[in-house]
Amino acid sequence: MRTTHPCLPYRCPVTETAAALVERLTAVVPDFPKPGILFRDVTPVFSDPVAFGRVCEALAAPFAIGGGFQAVAGIEARGFALAGGIAAQHQVGVLTVRKAGKLPGEVLSEQYALEYGEAELELRPGQLPQGTRVLVVDDVLATGGTAAATVTLLERAGYEAVGFASLLELDGLAGRERLEPRLPVTTLGRVPA
Ligand code: AMP
Repeated sequence: MRTTHPCLPYRCPVTETAAALVERLTAVVPDFPKPGILFRDVTPVFSDPVAFGRVCEALAAPFAIGGGFQAVAGIEARGFALAGGIAAQHQVGVLTVRKAGKLPGEVLSEQYALEYGEAELELRPGQLPQGTRVLVVDDVLATGGTAAATVTLLERAGYEAVGFASLLELDGLAGRERLEPRLPVTTLGRVPA
């Protein structure tokens, strides 16, 4: 029986779960992008073809039952890759939630607090019918400010945010507690902040 993916040099055991793949492949980079931050670099999960498909399946699975979702919103920038993978698997479209100033034309904007300072996200309205059920995805859930601002943008655009999914959540930053009153949350792993 084959126990590894046939496509060399990628060697994900067939039985390795999405959560195990995220744990094994995510790089931990101290003091990036600034001193004191333990950066979780998930890009090796994206570049492994088996892991990428498997994590996309796992992120969407809890939300594919019942009414499911009709679109996936990816948060710039690593959320775009995940949104694209999930959308292709489920044959739905993608909404891109972008940093301020990147989208032309009419946009909705939402400011939110970062640990130091403020950030702003934007969404182009009118791309999908009102009431469209949207799954929100990103790589890492920390304080939840980015995800909460995204949910607000989607609601302002007339969509229904039906869930949030990320590869990792950081312990002790209360991102899940912030989001769960608004929508269900799924992550594939919990790691120290
Ligand atoms: P937050 O709004 O605090 O939940 O932060 C989440 C956003 O910041 C996500 O888009 C992540 O990509 C990014 N982020 C926050 N902390 C980290 C970290 N330790 N490693 C990688 N990305 C992070």
